[in-house]
Amino acid sequence: MRRPVLAANWKMNLGNAEEARQFVRRIRNGLNAVETVDRVVCPPFTALAAVAEVVAVTSIAVGAQNMHFEDKGAHTGEISAAMLSGLCQFVILGHSERRAAGGALETDAAVNRKVRTALLNGLTPIVCVGETLAQREEGETQVFVSGQVAAALDGLTPEQAVRCVIAYEPLWAIGTGKAATPADANRVIALSIRAAIADRFGEAVAQTVRVQYGGSVTAENIAGFMIMPEIDGALVGGASLKLDYVDLVRNAAEVAGSR
Ligand code: PEP
Repeated sequence: MRRPVLAANWKMNLGNAEEARQFVRRIRNGLNAVETVDRVVCPPFTALAAVAEVVAVTSIAVGAQNMHFEDKGAHTGEISAAMLSGLCQFVILGHSERRAAGGALETDAAVNRKVRTALLNGLTPIVCVGETLAQREEGETQVFVSGQVAAALDGLTPEQAVRCVIAYEPLWAIGTGKAATPADANRVIALSIRAAIADRFGEAVAQTVRVQYGGSVTAENIAGFMIMPEIDGALVGGASLKLDYVDLVRNAAEVAGSR
């Protein structure tokens, strides 16, 4: 049985430590009361310590939104896995908003290096993959998404692979209010993501890795995703910035409890 994971990606919002602290204090009890899904809050780097302090001694985990693949060195403005490991347990890697910005730090190879470094430092990577609208319309979703998964997990041992979380986030669904249909997300996860993992690591690993859906998830539509057998929770952007994010997580947990 895979335990679903609900992760809040605040992006570049609530980065002031005091505003982050106040917001998390208001959702903390609601999130902490939930038992059937893991809950992760991913603030900007500048608010990691504040959020970690507020959720200490709760069951709520903290995640970063990116990291560098090197341990240290002349990388001005970058943050390493070692710097994060005392502050948080998860790290989002290869988010499409970062991949879209381009550059040497967001290629498939760089994301793979980040995944390896995160694991070596005891962090759980949430690896984002997903196709553009043009790729979908050209019928390239399966090849593209399975390629991203294979590249991100390249060189891992099976024991390391099962520690990863994959977030399937079709780019056309992120921040647009146009979520994928649960059936479609379920199909891509089965045919592109679990199949790619099975190719590399075998079926048992493919059935163990947790795969989230992300893209315009709300308190209203989360249940539809959670009932899908291949979907193990969600990566949530916009809806995680509102106090009723607690309802979204509760709705997810309710479905998870009856799975
Ligand atoms: C995201 O950025 O990971 C995301 C899923 O955003 P939204 O929920 O706002 O679509």
